[in-house]
Amino acid sequence: MNTTHPAERILLGPGPSPVPARVLRALGAPTLGHLDPQYLAIMDETCERLRQVFRTRNPLTFPVSGTGMAGMECLAVNLIEPGDEVIVGVNGVFGGRMKDVMERCGATVHALEAPWGEVFSLDQVAAALKAHPKSRIVALVQAETSTGALQSLEGMADLVHGAGALFLVDAVTSLGGHELRVDDWGIDAIYSGTQKCLSCPPGLSPVSFGERALARMDARKSKPQSWYLDVSMLRKYYLAGAGAGGGRVYHHTAPINMTYALNEALAIVLEEGLDARIARHAAAHQRLRAGLEAMGLSYIPKHSLHTLNCIGIPAGADDLKVRRRLLDEYGIEIGAGLGVMAGKAWRIGLMGHGATTRNVDLVLTALREVLK
Ligand SMILES: *Cc1c(COP(=O)(O)O)cnc(C)c1O
Repeated sequence: MNTTHPAERILLGPGPSPVPARVLRALGAPTLGHLDPQYLAIMDETCERLRQVFRTRNPLTFPVSGTGMAGMECLAVNLIEPGDEVIVGVNGVFGGRMKDVMERCGATVHALEAPWGEVFSLDQVAAALKAHPKSRIVALVQAETSTGALQSLEGMADLVHGAGALFLVDAVTSLGGHELRVDDWGIDAIYSGTQKCLSCPPGLSPVSFGERALARMDARKSKPQSWYLDVSMLRKYYLAGAGAGGGRVYHHTAPINMTYALNEALAIVLEEGLDARIARHAAAHQRLRAGLEAMGLSYIPKHSLHTLNCIGIPAGADDLKVRRRLLDEYGIEIGAGLGVMAGKAWRIGLMGHGATTRNVDLVLTALREVLK
């Protein structure tokens, strides 16, 4: 194995996704100090671009240091106090992780369960709120990467707010690939990741908190269990003028070069245009789907993501051998099944820079050859 020069793979798994050369070049720019006015300007620009991509005006929108899981923990530790009741949609690995993370924060989690590959209806969420009227949070995963299912979010916030709860969303595999409207859809707090549809290396987790979430944090009786992820301190660094004397307060050293990379990745998203980008993901998915179905392969979820295609492994195919040959002979990475789908599914990601006609036709050709 060559440990000096990593190979150029074609990343068509559940993340990371292919990173454009522009983003890699940005990553290699000179490291500034985290309180250097020039760096602060870059960071402010990054946060403003994140607002545009999240389609929100929330001032408190910034990249948490850490991958998508750090964003999940950030929402949980700041918005939950021990003893709180919360409702979490569990229909795959990531819903299950939210339940685990929230229980570690001391919450009593009412899991709203659905079979893997299925999603939740407005009626199911309404019924859960009726059954657990003291719930302070409802959390759903928009793009459940473990099953490839797309959760519709429209209309959910009215139910959740009507019951006095906050609406939390995991948008790790949807931000920049699927339609997502934080303000229009009434989402109170949301997190994502850089290495999925934003096509940036892993290392940051964009988050956004709305007014209701801020009020909840301000009314806390106890400090969040995590010092590193405590938003009441983080905001004094990330929000201009929120720190002592209207300045910025050092909390932890921001991942400077990763911020450059994210800023460039977001510039690329906005140059393409969100709507055009979402349409490109839809077109790539449809092309892949037509090709896979023509080969006799079938999708597992009824409501499939565009960004992650979860298909059943055909009878007689050797899961490991097929994925190994794709990697060795074609340089293509696809994902294995996760959790209960291990050994039963393949997950082909078409995310960000990777969602192209070229990649779709390549993976279809390679799969056809390998499955012969
Ligand atoms: C990838 C993913 C995560 C976790 O992100 P990491 O960057 O691996 O920490 C969380 N939720 C969903 C839906 C994901 O796809």
